[in-house]
Amino acid sequence: MRNIIFIAPPAAGKGTVSDYLVKNFNYEHISTGEILREEIKSGSLLGKELDSIISQGKLVSDQYMIKLISDKLKSIKDKAFILDGFPRTLNQAESLDKMLVSNNITNTIVIYLDVDFDTLLKRVLGRIICPKCKRSYNKFNEELKPLKNNICDDCGVELETRSDDTEETFKVRFDSFLESTEPIVEYYQNKGILKRIDAMVALEEIFDKIKNEAKND
Ligand code: AMP
Repeated sequence: MRNIIFIAPPAAGKGTVSDYLVKNFNYEHISTGEILREEIKSGSLLGKELDSIISQGKLVSDQYMIKLISDKLKSIKDKAFILDGFPRTLNQAESLDKMLVSNNITNTIVIYLDVDFDTLLKRVLGRIICPKCKRSYNKFNEELKPLKNNICDDCGVELETRSDDTEETFKVRFDSFLESTEPIVEYYQNKGILKRIDAMVALEEIFDKIKNEAKND
């Protein structure tokens, strides 16, 4: 399978699609949001700083994020990986290119998940996550509801909401997406490696399209 870089607005479904790819094709899932939330949970001083940035919907500095991903990529061996949440700025995208070259990583595609504003907002407000396995559910979507109300199907623990999944913070995150992340779309489009996927259709259809894009020829 090819390595995948996801570019998508907040709550477009990167997490859900990544879960599918990990379960079915043994991908290594690198979610920058998850890594940052783990640091926050640890209660460290750095975690407290990150928390104040993330809960306002702002972006963490490029310098910090680039170092984090650079370390991560060095530790990846032969497994195909998903980058979920990185790059989010043009600077990060350009640094990523250099990292891929220096780590001899080829066979990478960029997938853009296309979802409109109203649908995203609804997804944000319905999102609930397992604190243990990080599986993402949605209480407003029949396909993504847990079997038992607010309980993880896999772990049996109570699901949680993210502190940045409020309407107010979502709007800041969406604006930051338009401002910082949209230029990346153009960047990858010019390189000819961007695949746009309509992510407002049924999940099975989205999974199928992504599977076909991700398969080696
Ligand atoms: P996510 O789980 O991908 O929605 O990320 C949650 C939050 O973590 C974002 O709203 C940002 O505040 C921060 N974050 C995650 N990835 C990055 C990144 N590549 N650059 C800057 N901030 C990030």
